[in-house]
Amino acid sequence: MTRHPIILAHGGAGTRPMTGDQRECLANALQTGYQALKRGASALDAVEATIRALEASGLFNAGIGSKLQLDGARRMDASIMEGRRLRAGAVASIQGISHPITAARLVMEETAHVLLVGEPATRFARRFKLKRQPPPTHAQRAASRVEHKSLGQLELQAAKTLELFSTLKHAEVFGRETVGAVALDKSGHIAAGASTGGIALMLPGRVGDTPLIGCGVYADDEAGAVSMTGLGESIIRIAVAKEIADRLEAGTSPSAAVRTVLRKLMSRVKGSAGALVLAPDGRWAIRHTTPRMTAGYWGGTGEPVVKDRFA
Ligand code: ASP
Repeated sequence: MTRHPIILAHGGAGTRPMTGDQRECLANALQTGYQALKRGASALDAVEATIRALEASGLFNAGIGSKLQLDGARRMDASIMEGRRLRAGAVASIQGISHPITAARLVMEETAHVLLVGEPATRFARRFKLKRQPPPTHAQRAASRVEHKSLGQLELQAAKTLELFSTLKHAEVFGRETVGAVALDKSGHIAAGASTGGIALMLPGRVGDTPLIGCGVYADDEAGAVSMTGLGESIIRIAVAKEIADRLEAGTSPSAAVRTVLRKLMSRVKGSAGALVLAPDGRWAIRHTTPRMTAGYWGGTGEPVVKDRFA
């Protein structure tokens, strides 16, 4: 049966209102993804193309806009999954490339593995001649120095981040514009992906939910597609993406499934997050526990809808 294609994308959950540039970029990224679907491209292609547009913009905390960790290095995480055969690929702590989402897809398609990390992941991506990332901008370095100063000596960082994490509101630690997308194609297949530079005050080597299948991302044609944003340390402990997908598979609607699981995230681990959820029949939901979430959707009628608050 031919499906009416649809794409949803996000630019992170948090407290800050989205900028005009971010709104425009997200709308354009949705157009890119939808046009691909309309031409008959797979949901996987559309998700990758949409996330690449966001990574290339420098306006979000992903790809060339990624934040620096406390040692000044820019380590990025990304994952992608398709719902037909449940294939998935991911990279964590990858450095120096503009499109971690494409590196994640290469892990899925060119290796027997799901997740590559660190320097070997970077070397793997270089073998495929992925576009190199420009060095961090002055503003990115300055922001990292401010964070670094607030923590002091390297050896004190572990203790201090713990202290800071418990005093800061979660949305002040993340809320830095991770990106993600979910899509349904004409053949009825779905896919999900996400890409991030992480959160504020990250110890070197910290990895969040984004590259962990079942936590930050999940896609199953028999359940649905989910792409998360929020405090990875909380999302991982509930395996939020899989928890939502399991509820969809049991027949719960996208909005009821995401509402129940985000409520559990808040009550069990005091977490906060936002989610894109798409069922294989095209029903969808966007929901967040944070004050704002930059996100949008487009099914081809009118213009793409982009907002920073969803009920
Ligand atoms: N989930 C991301 C992480 O924990 C951050 C975010 O979505 O803002 O790395």
